[in-house]
Amino acid sequence: MTPSSRLRVTVWNENLHEQHQESVKKVYPRGMHTPIAEGIRRELGGEVTVRVATLDDPEHGLTEKVLADTDVLTWWGHAAHDRVADEVVNRVHARVLDGMGIVVLHSGHMSKIFMRLMGTSCRLRWRENGERETVWTVSPTHPIAAGVPHPIVIPHQEMYGEFFDIPAPDELVFISSYEGGEVFRSGCCYYRGGGRIFYFSPGHEEYPVYHQAEIQRVIANAVAWCAGGSPANDLPSARSDDSPRHWYLIPD
Ligand code: ZN
Repeated sequence: MTPSSRLRVTVWNENLHEQHQESVKKVYPRGMHTPIAEGIRRELGGEVTVRVATLDDPEHGLTEKVLADTDVLTWWGHAAHDRVADEVVNRVHARVLDGMGIVVLHSGHMSKIFMRLMGTSCRLRWRENGERETVWTVSPTHPIAAGVPHPIVIPHQEMYGEFFDIPAPDELVFISSYEGGEVFRSGCCYYRGGGRIFYFSPGHEEYPVYHQAEIQRVIANAVAWCAGGSPANDLPSARSDDSPRHWYLIPD
């Protein structure tokens, strides 16, 4: 595979809890983006180039050029959704409609970009007391479930429960259950314009969820799936490379 055909991934992280909250610093001393990026690199190997962008970068690290060079963007935000500039949100939204994939993680459900893409309030029930989360695969042949244990057990997580105010997912890959008895649609696929979207809820900042290899595997699979959209055949496209991409992973 030539370098020019590599899958180009941008891992976006708000990166505030890690800087300002001791408990989170301990779990993610190099920022949550580091294990997320490392997991994508490990699982997708030499077929991928990964860059990191954060809220404090100029234009949040999401300039026109960066987005033009991005096949799939991953998004983690929580404390500062309102600090993300509308101009950048508009830019990301336009790129998704034009074919860029986006993987929205955990509290990104209330980000401007996810709410814009969904068109609903995206509210949910939540309780933060470190319960066990069990992530069940409900679509075992879906590429995002490839090589993923059934179930994935996360020893400590924030509970996210139904009702989750999202449009019915185009494809549902995972549902989660919690010690308290709640359930949640934790892995949801959508198509918007030419772009693919995956929402994956595990990943509260206080727990080492993104250090778990099977969670990294899901994210890497999701990146590969979100990159799988082919350019539209009858819409103007800003993409420079019009060759179809198929990045599905083979199960172990
Ligand atoms: Zn959280």
